[in-house]
Amino acid sequence: MIDVSLSHEKTNFLGFTERDWIQLLDERGYKKFHAGQIMKWIHHRFISDFSEMSDIGMNLRDHLSIIGNLKEPLVKEEFVSTDGTRKWLIESFSGKLFELVYIPEKSRGTLCVSSQVGCALKCDFCSTGKLGFSNNLTAAEIVGQIRVAMRRLAEIFPNNKRRGVSNIVFMGMGEPLLNLPNVLPALEVIRSDLGYGISKRRVTVSTSGIVPAIGVLADKADVSLAISLHAPNDRLRDRLMPLNRKYPISLLLDACRAYSEKFPQKKEIFVEYTLLEGVNDGYEHAKELASILKDLRCKINLIPFNPFAGSTFKQPSLRRVREFQSALVANGYSVTVRATRGNDIAAACGQLAGRLVDQTNRNPKYREIDLKNIQV
Ligand code: SAH
Ligand code: SF4
Repeated sequence: MIDVSLSHEKTNFLGFTERDWIQLLDERGYKKFHAGQIMKWIHHRFISDFSEMSDIGMNLRDHLSIIGNLKEPLVKEEFVSTDGTRKWLIESFSGKLFELVYIPEKSRGTLCVSSQVGCALKCDFCSTGKLGFSNNLTAAEIVGQIRVAMRRLAEIFPNNKRRGVSNIVFMGMGEPLLNLPNVLPALEVIRSDLGYGISKRRVTVSTSGIVPAIGVLADKADVSLAISLHAPNDRLRDRLMPLNRKYPISLLLDACRAYSEKFPQKKEIFVEYTLLEGVNDGYEHAKELASILKDLRCKINLIPFNPFAGSTFKQPSLRRVREFQSALVANGYSVTVRATRGNDIAAACGQLAGRLVDQTNRNPKYREIDLKNIQV
């Protein structure tokens, strides 16, 4: 529960869960059933002012206007790719810039949301990692991304119901499992029928492997889990992802198995593997990967590296990608290759932050983060 009473600033109610509303209404002597009504006004009808809630008494409307607001993060720029992918440059409440991407496909529309501005984890192949960490996004800023996208899409395609958001992936900027106090309430609003009503299979949280937080996520939310593995052994993963020195592959895979088994029918884990030419894309890597994943119910998603300015890695040829895929398929895995979308607007994975390097106001305190200090 966000403590409204102690806050000197107005509370942004976009990130409020049903439980938060019930508690607030109860504490202030209003009927709890207004929680559902208010949430529908906010998340279904997208009101920006409490005075618009015509079926709620004036007294409660005025009270909410005094203590809170429904401010959305601001869209600064919109980029549209020739393949229909849209990227929005968003300004957070603290004036920092981050990105939000919408990827339309035949049968679904996926929104790729950010959870932090920048990222502290410094993966070598990721442009967000090169930015360093700036700050966590609030629950209102995370939920606000969905509202912003849905409102904009309804504006662009007023009569086209299929051009909506059906899937949400936490694969934008930042490490969602290092911002659980904001990501968990946002997930609740995303999943709730009073919020965006997106089913558990259509919401995916991606992590680079914050092992203890995977357990917390399993306890507190029922969503799909993706892990960014990118290497089949610790020697290589240590090099590519410094976080591996704290949480090596064996611990990460144990946490994934526990996550999978926590749910009935054993949830399938999505294993993301970015292919870097000559680094992790050999036949021997594919064989090693097949061997370490054998006890995990999983699907593998291969992501050919998306180059960005200043990076030394290269994207493997399509032939090499297909060979890698075939080697895994021969071992019984279900393997997809992620199509690169929005290339012309740099909207692909890991490119989100590309243009932001000079604009993001980094927090110097976190520039050189020590992995020992990472706490969940
Ligand atoms: N921090 C989380 C969420 C980001 S998801 C995580 O790492 O899982 C973005 C995905 O794209 C991750 O799998 C990430 O490793 C991958 N990625 C990052 N930079 C990339 C690049 N330049 N090319 C291809 N994939 C990249
Ligand atoms: Fe952070 Fe994920 Fe990029 Fe690694 S891949 S630097 S964890 S955003």
